[in-house]
Amino acid sequence: MHNDSKPRVYNSPPPFWFLIRRAFPSASLEHQIFAFYPAIYSSVPVSADLMEHEGTHLKQQGSKLGALVWWFRYWYSPGFRYRMEVEACTAQYHKAQTMASREHVKALLEKMADNLSSSVYNNCVTREQAYRDLANATYD
Ligand SMILES: [Zn+2]
Repeated sequence: MHNDSKPRVYNSPPPFWFLIRRAFPSASLEHQIFAFYPAIYSSVPVSADLMEHEGTHLKQQGSKLGALVWWFRYWYSPGFRYRMEVEACTAQYHKAQTMASREHVKALLEKMADNLSSSVYNNCVTREQAYRDLANATYD
């Protein structure tokens, strides 16, 4: 295993949490995982498929400065936020496919669509649209 290449997970609030919580009032340290290059911040164990999701955000950020820019765009642009999440959810889905049952993976798609269309992401998309886009993005 290449544990060195795995991002570190800290059980502490992400950098600039005081700003993030203002930008995303529904975000919670107990229920969400945060990616802020080069690490992941979570108070719960991060499953392999979620690791893939957060790892995608780290790649999108690319550097510490990149993380700052990413978070700013992520806050002010619902379109950017949505694109970043669809990419991360797609990676998560494909990882889940390698380790979980068909039923579980199907349920994951529903859960991701629920989640993406919720207040947690400041309602950047409708449930119907999120499900359609995720189904298209993950289809293989
Ligand atoms: Zn995400």
